Amino acid sequence: MRRIQEIQTVVSGAIASGRLLKDTNGVYFVLTSADVTASSGFCTQYCGWHTHGTISGSDIKYAFIGNPDRCPSSCEAQTTGPNGNAGADGMASIISHELEEAVTDPDLNAWYDTRGQENADKCAWTFGTTYTVNGASANMKLGTRDYLIQRNWVNALSGYCATSY
Ligand SMILES: [Zn+2]
Repeated sequence: MRRIQEIQTVVSGAIASGRLLKDTNGVYFVLTSADVTASSGFCTQYCGWHTHGTISGSDIKYAFIGNPDRCPSSCEAQTTGPNGNAGADGMASIISHELEEAVTDPDLNAWYDTRGQENADKCAWTFGTTYTVNGASANMKLGTRDYLIQRNWVNALSGYCATSY
């Protein structure tokens, strides 16, 4: 996986073959293993991204999430994970980041601030109150599992970062 176009090809292939249904209200995530890089800047320019493109004649939203085990110092909040897999645990927060932005700025022309930051950008790498589990930090329990998920922007009361509203 090297360029944005190649990521879009992964998504369009899955839709064209019928492996995934075409859903203009969905967000398609391409997650890669730790031996895959993205020469457009994974680890140096970004840890993940979201965008949109025309796939099978429709405006489809999709995202790329690299495995941060490639570059813990730039894309992992911690080198341990509450579920024992630093890469996957790190990806959970990046998935959350890109999903929040894909929802509020799906076509890159909706919600962003005067500095060009989307909602999750404004709270990136902040986690609020944390606790320790399995030797790692976590800030929320979802189902039976603990996660360290970055906070998101709350636009009320002049704005702040939070994990709930
Ligand atoms: Zn972002």
